[in-house]
Amino acid sequence: MLNLKSPIKATFNTNKLFCFIRKYDNAIPMIKNLIIASTSTVYNSGYLAYLLSDLPDLFVDTDEVIFVPYARPGGISHDDYTAIASKAFSKIGKKIKGLHTFEDPVAAINNAKGVFTGGGNTFVLVSQLYKNKVMEPLRDALHNGLAYLGTSAGSNICGLTMQTTNDMPIVYPPSFKTLGIVPFNINPHYLDPIEGDTHMGETRETRIEEFHTQNSLVVVGLREGSWLRVQNEDIILKGTHTAQIFVKGEKPYELKPETLLHF
Ligand code: ASP
Repeated sequence: MLNLKSPIKATFNTNKLFCFIRKYDNAIPMIKNLIIASTSTVYNSGYLAYLLSDLPDLFVDTDEVIFVPYARPGGISHDDYTAIASKAFSKIGKKIKGLHTFEDPVAAINNAKGVFTGGGNTFVLVSQLYKNKVMEPLRDALHNGLAYLGTSAGSNICGLTMQTTNDMPIVYPPSFKTLGIVPFNINPHYLDPIEGDTHMGETRETRIEEFHTQNSLVVVGLREGSWLRVQNEDIILKGTHTAQIFVKGEKPYELKPETLLHF
């Protein structure tokens, strides 16, 4: 039941009020429930190892998680990629089923209680999500509380567009528009310029500045080992690193872990 003794902030924003009511009424499920991670693997550690302790809480309502293997890192097959995810999830007692094994991927997403989208090539991932018509149902499901883990390319798609990926455009997706679950774009595996480096190619910062000459969306540079925990309308930076925030026309700034992201 709604506890009226809870601290209520007066607001005329109906969406926020709705979220507030959901938050304080246990009978109604949460609206958004995601982990959006920079990478699947941190240096010197196993696949998903650094996230494993947070996953039972994320996927508390299900023993079976649908894996989206479409991004195919290094061109690996859907089956082989699913086997990797499966091995990691078996450590927390959860089963993985590849989305590619369902005859009707839209129905699979609609019936899912948990989804994990792995990294790889973001262009390939987005093309496949559109081709299989699952972009829209996935967006709707995530807005209705579907538990979701994204790593890397699987995190890029949680942003408004995929235009701040680090990947090469090896295929041509019908649109750069992605899920828009968070109100900004993500740059995963964010890398700082290395002082004294003799490499003459663009730094990551330069590339994001170039993005801002043509677009005005905020970009969150997520370093490896960082993730965003999205619960309802709250987005909190997790992990040990700060994140670099790029706002068009402003100097980039660092955001500390455990801080709420508001843009
Ligand atoms: N290729 C990355 C991944 O591991 C995505 C990116 O860097 O934008 O999924």
